[in-house]
Amino acid sequence: MINESILDRALAAYLGFACGDALGATVEFMSPRSIQKRYGVHREIIGGGWLNLQAGQVTDDTQMSLAIGEAIIQHQGWNIQAVADNFVEWLASEPPDIGNTCRAGILRYQQTGELSAPPDERGAGNGACMRNLPVALATLYNPIKFETWSLQQSHITHNNPLSDGATLALGRKTQALIKGEELNTCQSEIDTLLKQYPQFNYHPYPGKSSAYIVDTLQTVLHYFYHTQSFEECLIATVNQGQDADTTGALAGMLAGAHYGLSAIPSRWLDVLDGEIYQSINRQCRELLKLAEKAGSARPAR
Ligand code: MN
Ligand code: MN
Repeated sequence: MINESILDRALAAYLGFACGDALGATVEFMSPRSIQKRYGVHREIIGGGWLNLQAGQVTDDTQMSLAIGEAIIQHQGWNIQAVADNFVEWLASEPPDIGNTCRAGILRYQQTGELSAPPDERGAGNGACMRNLPVALATLYNPIKFETWSLQQSHITHNNPLSDGATLALGRKTQALIKGEELNTCQSEIDTLLKQYPQFNYHPYPGKSSAYIVDTLQTVLHYFYHTQSFEECLIATVNQGQDADTTGALAGMLAGAHYGLSAIPSRWLDVLDGEIYQSINRQCRELLKLAEKAGSARPAR
């Protein structure tokens, strides 16, 4: 039996992620100024944007997450090759968008079978961090598996210490929120990251929200801590523009895990792509079942 409150917060994290992706995609690559000129405050899932999306359509962030989740469920556990194969299949489906580093990594795997990108000290995009939620769910009670699986899936495309650090810290924070831990306990993961890599410090907030993992994480954490509700957090985040679908998705993941399902505006859930909604709902339950099986410890409550 999956704990009801954990299921609620896990579903809210995954659906919140997809809502943030769909909401932010409209204003991806825009500056805060141009968003303001065009929309005032952008607060509705209306599609459009540079990808010319339909309202409720999601982008690579949600699609790559679902690809990882599907591989874990198909194999009832971890199979890194299956993850890479699902990325290949996804790329072949001609997705609306894909990051350059993700594309290069998937093509390398396709051509050489090599599962890990060579270490890259320069490229620290957010493409690995953005798709790690299914791993966080499936390893909710197993920190060792969480770390191994996270790094393996990341390195298919992104092999960089800043990307690794952010992916692990944000994933652990999300897990702590889903388990219902107090906000200040959840902060310890981020404090550890800041000690190791002070460049992630987000106070005062530098105001950049690009796909550079440092900019992305600063934006997500800043708005998570400076807003009072799920809706306010996502709206503030995406109106910062730039990589707004990815910052929106990650903010939605944290805010969903923290505020729970009832906090997600129904007008957003109603418009979210129905197939995506169904897939998330199914994956979430399956991944949490696996987490209970694979866990080294039982949930506290
Ligand atoms: Mn995207
Ligand atoms: Mn993006």
